[in-house]
Amino acid sequence: MKKISILIPCFNEEKSLPFLYPELVKLMDGNSQYEWELMFVNDGSRDGTLEVLQQLRQKDQRVNYVDLSRNFGKENAMLAGFDYVTGNCMVIIDADLQHPPTLIPEMIKLWEQGYDDVYAKRKSRGKESWLRKRLSLEFYKILQRSSRFEVLKNVGDFRLLDRCCINALKQLRESERYTKGMYSWIGFKKKEIEFEQGDRVAGESSWSYRQLFSFAIDGITSFTTAPLRISTIIGFIVSVCAFLYMIYVFFKAVLFGDPVQGYPTLVILILFLGGIQMLSLGIIGEYIGRIYNETKNRPDYIVREFNNQRVYQPLHD
Ligand code: UDP
Ligand code: MG
Repeated sequence: MKKISILIPCFNEEKSLPFLYPELVKLMDGNSQYEWELMFVNDGSRDGTLEVLQQLRQKDQRVNYVDLSRNFGKENAMLAGFDYVTGNCMVIIDADLQHPPTLIPEMIKLWEQGYDDVYAKRKSRGKESWLRKRLSLEFYKILQRSSRFEVLKNVGDFRLLDRCCINALKQLRESERYTKGMYSWIGFKKKEIEFEQGDRVAGESSWSYRQLFSFAIDGITSFTTAPLRISTIIGFIVSVCAFLYMIYVFFKAVLFGDPVQGYPTLVILILFLGGIQMLSLGIIGEYIGRIYNETKNRPDYIVREFNNQRVYQPLHD
């Protein structure tokens, strides 16, 4: 019998889980030709999520949970899930029911037809402010232009991945993770299906604009070095212009003498060049910071408890 795992990263989801669990039970009972495994990853929730999971585990052995020692962020929580799931395939789903479990049978059907990565694309972005929609569209445009890998817009983590994709993703253990880019980096046979994204059933979305902004920078810097290239090109153009201007100033001074003039030119040049230098340094700094974090080589997450058992040895080595 083939085994299907469902991976659910949870951060402060005690209010959503009572809605989500019955939906998943309905799904599992309706498709009993498969063996099922629910893998909840408690990403350092500050509410009663862990207690809810422990209770579910007690009455239903299909429920598994990994309790992380603190909040590591959704990307790392998902990696913990990749390490712990045991199914022939895995469906990643949000705990807040924004990803309808009713779509999963359709994904499984496509998986049985031989697709390795069946991803769900939102038809609309649901209730979001105009500014947020705009910013995210711009972000995808920039990413698209600057990197060789296609990162699809309106496609999130809601997808079914075959065991071969899970094993591939487990090998990508960088510390600043951008999983959306990794799905396309690993390749494999992909298939798109569409869905209508609802609103959260309970609780609150944990993303602020500040987090989204840093997520965008992570996305770009972890997938492309194009910003470094751009700053090289700008530097080159500016120095060519500066060289031409230097020749002009030199001959003007030689031919016509040099009464003190050109204060505005001087100020403009200093400010302009200073600005460009700062910007380039900042870009280089972003990458150096990333190198620094990567060389520390710390684990991507730390597990406190797995299914009522305290964990002392990491699973992944
Ligand atoms: N999540 C997580 N760790 C975090 C933030 C979020 O595991 O630090 C989980 C959260 O519990 C949910 C999913 O990631 O299951 C998506 O989060 P959310 O609904 O807040 O994001 P949005 O839907 O607004 O993008
Ligand atoms: Mg959500």
